[in-house]
Amino acid sequence: MGNTSKDKQSMPLVILLLVAALVATLGFWAADRWDTEPAYSNNASIGGTGGEHFQWKMITTWPKNFPGLGFAAENFSRSVEEMSNGRLTVHVYGAGEIVPALGVFEAVSEGIVDAGHGAAYYWKGKVPASVFFTAVPFGLTAQETNGWLHYGGGLELWQEAYAPYNLVPMAGGSTGVQMAGWFNKEINSIADLRGLKMRIPGLAGEVFAAAGGTAVTIPGGELYTSMQTGVIDAVEWVGPYNDKSLGFHQVAKYYYYPGWHEPGSILEFVFNKDSLEALPKDLQAIVRFASRAANQDMLDEYTARNNAALQSLVDEHGVQLRRLPDDVLLALWHGAQVVMQELVGADPMAAKVYASYSDFYKGVRNYHHISEQAYLNARDKVFGDEDF
Ligand code: CA
Repeated sequence: MGNTSKDKQSMPLVILLLVAALVATLGFWAADRWDTEPAYSNNASIGGTGGEHFQWKMITTWPKNFPGLGFAAENFSRSVEEMSNGRLTVHVYGAGEIVPALGVFEAVSEGIVDAGHGAAYYWKGKVPASVFFTAVPFGLTAQETNGWLHYGGGLELWQEAYAPYNLVPMAGGSTGVQMAGWFNKEINSIADLRGLKMRIPGLAGEVFAAAGGTAVTIPGGELYTSMQTGVIDAVEWVGPYNDKSLGFHQVAKYYYYPGWHEPGSILEFVFNKDSLEALPKDLQAIVRFASRAANQDMLDEYTARNNAALQSLVDEHGVQLRRLPDDVLLALWHGAQVVMQELVGADPMAAKVYASYSDFYKGVRNYHHISEQAYLNARDKVFGDEDF
């Protein structure tokens, strides 16, 4: 009786074991054949580090899929996923989805998310030196800033400035020379800036304030409404390609150049240091190279698209293009020197970065005087004004 009973109980166990073995075999076959992620997820014992998968969240100071500036985060995400064969995926969240636009620095610093994309000068209140890593009035161009960051010690200083916040920064795109901004009155002298409330962030905002205006920092997604409702009188954002997509030509008449305040703005990727260091070395390298590629890609896109947008603004939308008068530019330059000395006098890290930046500036300006600038001047000379 006992044996019979035992045999009857054993039968289902044998079947279960056989079924389990079959399921396991099919499972491994399927995982191998289709490279399904869950079977290997975060499992270093299968396939070594090559089998680990990581999922990151990246937040941005721009709305989701924002033209130009907003594409960098998406480019980065796509590159990382392709280069890592899906071992690192980066989900991009627009401004306001997890934290507000100007909450990016803190959220990445605190590890609420792994990464962010924005502009360093938004964090001027926390890190005064951050302005050097976006734009300095009358400072380096995009090409020059990239040279300083990647071959002139700039990136190391940027990393040093962000280290207390557990953040690792990398260059995240460049706009090239921006436009001076949109106004509803002509600027014929520095006195015309008095009393104007303008969206103009960073050091340039302080220069603008010194000239008698009021400078405010407002995220990109709120600018059109701010102009339309009269919260601000003037706005600078980027350049024709970006500005046209935001519709500023519907709320402002005059479009001024040159962008004295942002001659080559660099955007930033910021990474939570713990998230970055949790990655195997090869994925860390992929993050670095995907950032570098997205950085260059943005400049390429602006270079390719700005002129068509400018032509459309002028020819189809009746925008009045104006150049800031030389005496206004000179007054702003004087203001910028005062603001710069105040900044470096008040903050040792800013002074340290300024020393490096200004050394590089002197050298590159000297060479570009007889290379980039000399060539552009020569090109204009032979063509004259015939094409403008
Ligand atoms: Ca700008």
